[in-house]
Amino acid sequence: MKVGILALQGAVQPHEEKLKELRVESVQVRYPEQLKEIRGIILPGGESTTMIHLLKLNQLWGPLKEFVQTQPTWGICAGSILLANEVTHPSQESLNALEITVERNSYGRQNESFIDTLVAGETWKTFSSDPKPIEGVFIRAPRIKKWSSNIQVVFEHRNEPVMVKKNHCLASTFHPELTDSSLIHKYFLTLCR
Ligand code: GLN
Repeated sequence: MKVGILALQGAVQPHEEKLKELRVESVQVRYPEQLKEIRGIILPGGESTTMIHLLKLNQLWGPLKEFVQTQPTWGICAGSILLANEVTHPSQESLNALEITVERNSYGRQNESFIDTLVAGETWKTFSSDPKPIEGVFIRAPRIKKWSSNIQVVFEHRNEPVMVKKNHCLASTFHPELTDSSLIHKYFLTLCR
């Protein structure tokens, strides 16, 4: 099984390391034809506006938009902004895969970035019984301001969803690739298998 990591910009390498640790082959995705050889894709953190620009330059916007509607996909931070069907602050276009509204840079500027313990929802509890809490690293993160009733909440922080799921599609506003745990990557891989 090969898992793709969108590699136009942003935090690609830490995901490669996590997948390697879990003995799964990864490939850096930059071109449309690569979507045919992967079982799922990670859209990493970075700068969503820049990613949109580069996705279009590489003729990847349309094919990726189609891919994320049906294939295992996980968007992290900027990646979650790409997956949302509505983006505010400011508004921008998206891949339209999840019925969530995200507000960009919603906790403030770079120095309002933080690490905190997350609260697991039922979806997570059925996957993992590990009692060790999951830490969330938030870096100029968006906040999920609205979500449709068909969205499952995987993790919360201060009573707000910070990781959500619908069918094949996951979005987290925090960065699991920057912590020691690889459990969330393992969880994504269960969606790919
Ligand atoms: N602030 C970035 C954006 O709006 C996201 C930051 C991140 O991915 N860590 O695209």
